Amino acid sequence: MTLIDGKATAAQIKKEIAAEVEKMVADGHKRPNLAAVLVGHDGGSETYVANKIKSCAECGFESTLIRFEDTVSEKELLDKIAELNADDNIDGFIVQLPLPKHIDEQKIIEAIDYRKDVDGFHPVNVGRMSIGLPCFVSATPSGIMELLRRYEIPTAGKNCVVVGRSNIVGKPVATLMMQKGTDATVTVCHSRTQDIKDICSRADIIIAAMGKPGFITADMVKEGAVVIDVGTTRVPSSETKSGFRLKGDVDFENVAPKCSFITPVPGGVGPMTICSLMRNTLQAAKQR
Ligand code: NAP
Repeated sequence: MTLIDGKATAAQIKKEIAAEVEKMVADGHKRPNLAAVLVGHDGGSETYVANKIKSCAECGFESTLIRFEDTVSEKELLDKIAELNADDNIDGFIVQLPLPKHIDEQKIIEAIDYRKDVDGFHPVNVGRMSIGLPCFVSATPSGIMELLRRYEIPTAGKNCVVVGRSNIVGKPVATLMMQKGTDATVTVCHSRTQDIKDICSRADIIIAAMGKPGFITADMVKEGAVVIDVGTTRVPSSETKSGFRLKGDVDFENVAPKCSFITPVPGGVGPMTICSLMRNTLQAAKQR
């Protein structure tokens, strides 16, 4: 069994991006600049945005943090997005989700200029991805594909089961897995799927993206399968200072011995997500 080390892979990719940035700067171009819009003080969002800003520094990017209280109106947020769309100094930007209930998330996503939508959530980017055109692919699916590539995991003709059909993970990763060049045969499961155990047990590659800790058990996985665990749920733990730890959708301890490759949680898909955002920002800067 090979443990897929997302942390080490992500560190390597950040080094590669930093080297590209230094070359760009040496050639007289400006550093890529990523802006992050953060609304409110949700602990998870604060951590994600802080990590994104830290990664910008590691990659040699500039970054801009724009904060709003959670009382911000939808109009104020839309005005800020229009400003960022027009700001030549900003190559790409993200609006950290989730947003407060009184703000229509889809309206916000669609207000972002798709050429600066480095999260890859705008319908233009989603549509272009689905027909295999160049675009910003959303960060988590793109990170998963990069792990498969870097570990040279064969995908052509393989049976891939994606468990979860969200717009940010399940659907895009299923689309990418079936794309020409990747060539997997893809089955997507969700909460209304019957016989998930039977479907998973025939998979060469399982991508679990449900947010149900430990859902994928050893009896659902065939010998030699590749298992990619996207799930990250905070569960109580007496072993950590915070009283919580992150748990994936896979019963790692019992599933890992059956696998040819498996990602751990934490340290698997998670660190790759930010790398993909950095890669998209670099691409946005180059395109501009
Ligand atoms: P989501 O929007 O809540 O979607 C969950 C999906 O799982 C839904 O499609 C749901 O089906 C399906 N599902 C739920 N219970 C199920 C069951 N018992 N059997 C089969 N399918 C079931 O979640 P998400 O945003 O895709 O995230 C999924 C997990 O990945 C979460 O733990 C999240 O924290 C994690 N995540 C990690 C990263 C990272 O960087 N590592 C990034 C994004 C997300 P229905 O559609 O029928 O409801």
